[in-house]
Amino acid sequence: MIPIPIEIQVLDLLAKGRLSNRSIAVHLGIGRTAVDAVARAGALRPRPKGRQGTTQKPKRLRTPGWCKACRCHVYWEPCVACTARDYLAQKRA
Ligand SMILES: [Zn+2]
Repeated sequence: MIPIPIEIQVLDLLAKGRLSNRSIAVHLGIGRTAVDAVARAGALRPRPKGRQGTTQKPKRLRTPGWCKACRCHVYWEPCVACTARDYLAQKRA
């Protein structure tokens, strides 16, 4: 798992569309598979309709559960990926 600031940078670079996933990995010093995972989670996973931005404070689940937004297996709700996506959406708005 990569840190949230790096994930946000990956999402920004992917959104700009100028660099390939491999170039982004080299630029940020992370693995190409990490960039691919962020690209898959950010772009290909459908988001439920009518989902509002997450403003609630993340809470640790006693047992791993499924994120209600992206259906990932997580220990925190909302999950880190959804928190990063919402942060970027608010930043761009
Ligand atoms: Zn999620």
